Amino acid sequence: MSICNRFISAVLLASAFIGATIASAQQAANSQPQQAAQQPAPDATSQVPPSQPAATSPAPTDPAVSQAQPSTPAVAAPTPAAVAIPAPPTTPAPTTMDQVVNLFIEREHGLIKMLSNRTPVVETYLQNLANDPQLGPIPSEDHYFLGRMDMGETVDRKDYLKEEQKGMQSRLLGGFAKLYKVQYQPLGFSWMVYADRTDFDREHYDFHYIRREFMGDVRCLVFDVTPKKGSGRGRFLGRVWVEDQDYNIVRLNGTYYPAPRNSYFFHMDSWRLNLIPGYWVPSYIYSEEGDFSAGVKNKTAFKAQTRIWGYDLKKGDKDDELTQIRVDSVKDESASAQDASPLQAEREWQQQAEDNVVERLTRAGLLAPEGDVDHILQTVVNNLEVTNNIDLPRPVRTRVLLTAPLETFSVGNTIVISRGLVDVLPDEASLAAVLSHELAHIVLGHNLGSKYAFNDRMLFSDDSTYQNLGFKHIPEEEQAADKKAVDLLKNSPYAQKLDNVGLFLKALQARATQLNALLTTHLGNPLTEGGTVNRLTALETQGPALDNTKLDQIAALPLGGRVKVNPWDDKAEMVKTAPVAITSARDKMPFEVTPFYPRLARYGSNIAPNAAPTTAANTPSGN
Ligand SMILES: [Zn+2]
Repeated sequence: MSICNRFISAVLLASAFIGATIASAQQAANSQPQQAAQQPAPDATSQVPPSQPAATSPAPTDPAVSQAQPSTPAVAAPTPAAVAIPAPPTTPAPTTMDQVVNLFIEREHGLIKMLSNRTPVVETYLQNLANDPQLGPIPSEDHYFLGRMDMGETVDRKDYLKEEQKGMQSRLLGGFAKLYKVQYQPLGFSWMVYADRTDFDREHYDFHYIRREFMGDVRCLVFDVTPKKGSGRGRFLGRVWVEDQDYNIVRLNGTYYPAPRNSYFFHMDSWRLNLIPGYWVPSYIYSEEGDFSAGVKNKTAFKAQTRIWGYDLKKGDKDDELTQIRVDSVKDESASAQDASPLQAEREWQQQAEDNVVERLTRAGLLAPEGDVDHILQTVVNNLEVTNNIDLPRPVRTRVLLTAPLETFSVGNTIVISRGLVDVLPDEASLAAVLSHELAHIVLGHNLGSKYAFNDRMLFSDDSTYQNLGFKHIPEEEQAADKKAVDLLKNSPYAQKLDNVGLFLKALQARATQLNALLTTHLGNPLTEGGTVNRLTALETQGPALDNTKLDQIAALPLGGRVKVNPWDDKAEMVKTAPVAITSARDKMPFEVTPFYPRLARYGSNIAPNAAPTTAANTPSGN
């Protein structure tokens, strides 16, 4: 077995693929299909290595911070007009640790204030764990929560999921429900967006400097934070990492203490990203409870990922609704001055429905704006179209649904695939397979959905999106689409790689009953029904049997390894990770939740196209 095979082979992520194919994606429609996945590149695995050691800087000889870089004044670049963010105050360089503490307390209050009119989307995906002799702790059941979090004075949230779904979920939680409920009511897993919303100060806490440490590219000062005696229940207890330029907290790790009677606080690891000048915005929170060593009986054992995005979404107020009405374009860009034929009118009408839905889902914080990931998706769709001589009157577009549950759907000629599904697909052929099903619906004319061309049907609150939009097909159309999809695949560059699709479907089947929440779709048809895979079943028998002991057999990836979302502007991009060798069956973690370990970088220091809401701030002022 070659070394190469011992890496998770995720061709689609390999940077060579991304670079090479995007460049020519435009020509693809009229030319040869692109062999997007020619050789399995050693890959970008999805495992966020929880053990990646953060390099410790040379031990400071003097605990005083006098050697800290003279602080560059907080990046005081002009903020774009559309994003009214107060510039952070410029900070004089601190000379003692006490001053550093004062500074990050002040910056924390500044962050709370800056975000107080924001209502980001918050998603928590939780897997309860049971011990498997071979694979270690594996998911036994799962839970999913999605809502909008109001970060104002009265912290509040609105759920996107329907009441009955929530009811069902709390029933499923069983003995865990009471515990969970206690935690979930105020903010639950998203509590640790701040250390302490109201009383983060010296009256309530003691701060102890520990050391310096690099988090990614960012040098940090590390402090332990403990609540003072008698400062009340539910105070932050743990560690904070503070970057040494503007003295913002970039990571919090710990729990709350002491717990009220009959309740319990989860442990959390909370990460922030420098997405706008001067501020580090809460982005990822990992929670974990339980002892995962063999033989231990846990009452509660789970892993949960909380992701926050959509900071730049408008609040769903009536006032805001009004301000969003804009007259952008008055020019009719129709190619000709002729009248529309009945067929043209029909197509215009469908386009209008499609545009309405895409626009509305984007505004609700559920759809990423068009971006890098779409170039990859579109390349794969093009490959299918070209080899099958598909010539549609309107081009097929793709978009990324920002949520974790595994789903695809299409509206008009737009194919939508969820972030979670792109994450877990092992290779490009599997991506092609799930896209081919939606392409088949389009080719077969299943996606009329023209009721959404009426704009009144777009007037609903963001949190009722799932009640107002739906793109499910009847079983007959599902079967027809699957049949057509297999035909499309067999004529495509992926024809020789359908064994991998079969493996993925087997892996999905193996976990289908445990991952009910991940497999519950909210807008499209589910991939499984009653614990049985019902998508592309003709391919399920393809390929070898699922074998956990084969380290080179990667049937499905963990969540979070492919797509990363900019929590400020919702842009999605492909994760760039270095290959990590799989050394045991436990490393495979198909469909599983892992800790977060984002590579921290300062705003503008690493101008990934998606990382920067504006480039204006990257220019040093005064030049
Ligand atoms: Zn379908």
